[in-house]
Amino acid sequence: MAVFTERIAAMGTENAFKISEDVARAQARGVDVIKFTIGEPDFDSAPHINQVGIDNILSGNTHYTDPAGIRGLREAIATHVAKTRGIPSDPDRVIILAGAKPAIGYTMMSYVGPGDDVIYPSPGFPIYESWVTYQGATPVPLVLREDKGFAFTPEELEALVTERTKVVMLCSPSNPTGGVLDRTLLEGVAEVVTRKAHPDVRIYSDEIYEHITFDGFEQFSIASVPGMAERTIIASGLSKGFAMTGWRLGWVMLPSLEEAALFKQLNINTVSCVPPFAQEAGREAFENPKTAEVVASMVSEFKARRDYVVPALNAIDGIQCNTPLGAFYVFPNVGGVCENLGIHTFYEQLSDERKARTSPATLFQRFLLYHHGVALVDRRSFGVLESEGQHFLRLSYAADMDSIKEGVARIGRGASDRAGFEAFTADSVALGV
Ligand code: PMP
Repeated sequence: MAVFTERIAAMGTENAFKISEDVARAQARGVDVIKFTIGEPDFDSAPHINQVGIDNILSGNTHYTDPAGIRGLREAIATHVAKTRGIPSDPDRVIILAGAKPAIGYTMMSYVGPGDDVIYPSPGFPIYESWVTYQGATPVPLVLREDKGFAFTPEELEALVTERTKVVMLCSPSNPTGGVLDRTLLEGVAEVVTRKAHPDVRIYSDEIYEHITFDGFEQFSIASVPGMAERTIIASGLSKGFAMTGWRLGWVMLPSLEEAALFKQLNINTVSCVPPFAQEAGREAFENPKTAEVVASMVSEFKARRDYVVPALNAIDGIQCNTPLGAFYVFPNVGGVCENLGIHTFYEQLSDERKARTSPATLFQRFLLYHHGVALVDRRSFGVLESEGQHFLRLSYAADMDSIKEGVARIGRGASDRAGFEAFTADSVALGV
């Protein structure tokens, strides 16, 4: 008898959290580490929001709520959706979740089983691929192209849509690339889905970075394309845009009341509800006009950092970095560095078993962490399938400017440290495979 199920072995993880174990190991060896790993704003939640949470705790608002979420927050979100997506909305189709992340698992549990295909972006948020395989469904990665600003073409999507397709996942602005999907592309996606996919196919639109866009790019939801609201699950939350990661506040708007009832039932079966004081604080975040100012100032700070990081990375021999229009990540191509440092050559002579557990970009990432004190996340951490031959790292610039400058300088030193890489290849802890 096996202790664990086969399914649980198929579940992946989010390496941005796991890499912190390596960071701790490097620090224990005396390395000073600058962290560009975690996907959360380095800003605290705003005082006017915090105060509402505190007041609610002190006044005894500490009990269970409606598992769908408190009415006031669901109404505020329905208003926000109608205003920003220009589609009919309804608080009864909004469900409050403990962050945007549960929406992924809930979607997989509700719509997807063995024999179904799920199309999802690769590179993409790793939890997509993790849940698809956990459900015993077939993962169908939709490769994002660096030369298209990490987007894809409707034709590339069309080639993947079959009668087995059950859910198409989209994420814009994207983790890990910061790339965005614009209106024209999403209209193309809608056309493909309408023409080629079964009418019951759902689009999962992860819009958690909706508030963080630059250079005048306006967030556009596929749900805004005529005919798409009826088949789109919009998932978002307060973690990123309102710097409220630890509050665990996310939401979905489902296409029908029936589907909303299912998501509520999943809340009942798992967390019961999100803490009431957190939900009240979330409502304040939507209703108080001060929030818009706080978000605008955070976004302008992110933009200033992006404007430093991109050229600074491009100035490093062997690195090519796109200018993203959203989120707080850059996704530099480090293929040239892998060439310059002999990483490709080292990787090629590894046994197949070791090769399967790493990649040239992973080796560079570990070299930077253990030998140069700067922590990034490798391409493989954003979906293993189709990651072969893609030499990218994710840098989260949710860090103060001094750390960013020093961290990028360390990357630059690492990128030309051939002798250091030689030494790294003999350092089994750092190698990790
Ligand atoms: N989707 C994407 C694309 C994300 O990057 C994240 C957070 N890293 C989430 C969902 C989950 O957000 P939350 O913390 O609100 O659960």
